[in-house]
Amino acid sequence: MARVTANTIDIEKAAGVLRAGGLVALPTETVYGLGANAEDPAAVARIFQVKGRPPSHPLIVHIGGAEQLDGWVQDVPRAARLLAEHFWPGPLTLVLRRGPRVPLEATGGLETVAVRVPGHPVALALLAAFGGGVTAPSANRFGQVSPTTAEDVRAELGDAVDFVLDGGPCEVGVESTIVDVTGEVPSILRPGGVTREDLEAVLGAPLAVPATSPVRVPGQHPSHYAPRARVVLVEPDQVVAEAELARERGHHVGVFLPPAFPGATVEAHAVVRVPASMPAYARGLYGFLRRLDEQGCDLIVASLPVEEGLGLAIANRLRRAAGPRPTV
Ligand code: AMP
Ligand code: MG
Repeated sequence: MARVTANTIDIEKAAGVLRAGGLVALPTETVYGLGANAEDPAAVARIFQVKGRPPSHPLIVHIGGAEQLDGWVQDVPRAARLLAEHFWPGPLTLVLRRGPRVPLEATGGLETVAVRVPGHPVALALLAAFGGGVTAPSANRFGQVSPTTAEDVRAELGDAVDFVLDGGPCEVGVESTIVDVTGEVPSILRPGGVTREDLEAVLGAPLAVPATSPVRVPGQHPSHYAPRARVVLVEPDQVVAEAELARERGHHVGVFLPPAFPGATVEAHAVVRVPASMPAYARGLYGFLRRLDEQGCDLIVASLPVEEGLGLAIANRLRRAAGPRPTV
């Protein structure tokens, strides 16, 4: 079946929804976002309400190009300009000082703002048609797995979103890398689609990676990006044994079979053969977690990839998915 993706009529319609204060789910190259007019505090408030996200957690403002930064930020330090030139449009978010166009509702009350120019052609077309900035967190309920297809968005949010723009499956599959450029030395607040190695090559200097950010970042909660099933992380050579043990104990076990064991067989409810290529793994990651949930798994056994390149972002998401869940 041919995939239906956004056309000009859809984009105009989505821009109209944003102008009217509504919510649009939009494709980006990282994950699908839940977007609102960044300058409309009531629309921004609806994002928090729909996601169940605490209002103190800042959002990313998406704009159509680096030349539009004026008004959204106070000033653009040299490192920020360099990174923007190299990686925009793309999966890089820069934290800068907040400009007058950004309401405090979008920054969780902070005097800094996270800004990104997304690389997806449909997102760029929407930003051009709309003309303003769009605040958009991932289009999922707070703490859960980010959607990487329009179908995932509909399954997750249903009627809570006014319009879903379908741009096909996301190419990158994990969120943007967030770099704080407000301090003396740029630092990575969240690993993501642009690798640390590529950032450092452009800056010509190592990047600080603080263990915990002074700012509250949802991706830094112990549990985030989490499927319904509990996620257990073990060494790659323990995955099969751990999964089979859990199955014997009565679990519906899903397995992320590491690429180092291509021929391995495992007795489990559902098996994902993890791609050896990190871009392919990143692209598939959230879909794998969703599919194992849909297949009724209550436990997922996985291991961490080597934390280089995109492996850093994948390992970060898997650790959060395995993090202690809030008690309800
Ligand atoms: P998401 O919830 O996936 O949309 O991610 C948005 C990310 O951007 C979150 O981790 C936010 O906390 C982060 N973020 C947005 N604004 C800021 C800011 N001013 N300082 C630090 N992180 C920010
Ligand atoms: Mg998110």
